[in-house]
Amino acid sequence: MNIVLMGLPGAGKGTQADKIVEKYAIPHISTGDMFRAAIKDGTELGLKAKSFMDQGALVPDEVTIGIVRDRLSKPDCEKGFLLDGFPRTVPQAEALDALLTDLGKSIEHVLNIQVEQDELIKRLTGRRICKVCGTAYHLVFNPPAKDGLCDKDGGELYQRADDNPETVTNRLEVNMKQTQPLLDFYDNKGVLTNIDGQQDITKVFADLDALLQGNRI
Ligand code: ADP
Ligand code: ADP
Repeated sequence: MNIVLMGLPGAGKGTQADKIVEKYAIPHISTGDMFRAAIKDGTELGLKAKSFMDQGALVPDEVTIGIVRDRLSKPDCEKGFLLDGFPRTVPQAEALDALLTDLGKSIEHVLNIQVEQDELIKRLTGRRICKVCGTAYHLVFNPPAKDGLCDKDGGELYQRADDNPETVTNRLEVNMKQTQPLLDFYDNKGVLTNIDGQQDITKVFADLDALLQGNRI
């Protein structure tokens, strides 16, 4: 199962990705997570990515496509993969097509989680993330059992620097402009499905799951 997960920041991609990869036993490939890990480890890739990420700009395509190519060539992607945060531009989508063709693969599903802007702002400003495992919680919609601590590993929860009311609206606007051509690209290929992301977390997953099993929703 080769899947691309799409949706604006706060739509619930990370939350749903965790559930999909658990059920379907495929790797979760998030370019944002890979860049953050590289920065933490102080690698050459991290150094290249940091200045762009600090400005909220996209990391150049040659760097991003390179890390995705390396990752998709690993043996654990043989049974499938879930891409999250990549592709973000039409040139990245075209490069992905070319590289999958080389590997004898193709994208089967592009799942676009749709949520209204007002709701996205509430989700992003209330999001809290585990320092240890990266699981996302929400102060109101999805709180942890114990205040400020991760249910899975007891890790401390923190707020991402860019999840504040001042920057969220701008991030959403920039993202909307970037993603529309990409949605059109996949719609033209007939692999795009829109999912109603404005339902409970479990109901969104039930819809995604039904779709991946070949059912209409
Ligand atoms: P993304 O990866 O798309 O940016 P996240 O999965 O991090 O989004 O979710 C953003 C925030 O919204 C988190 O705080 C998460 O707990 C919360 N959230 C995710 N899905 C839902 C949902 N269906 N209903 C309400 N809140 C949700
Ligand atoms: P967000 O959804 O808020 O953009 P991510 O964790 O997906 O958060 O990405 C964080 C940053 O990593 C982006 O702002 C960008 O600098 C970089 N990044 C992630 N994915 C890509 C990509 N496909 N192309 C270019 N840069 C990327």
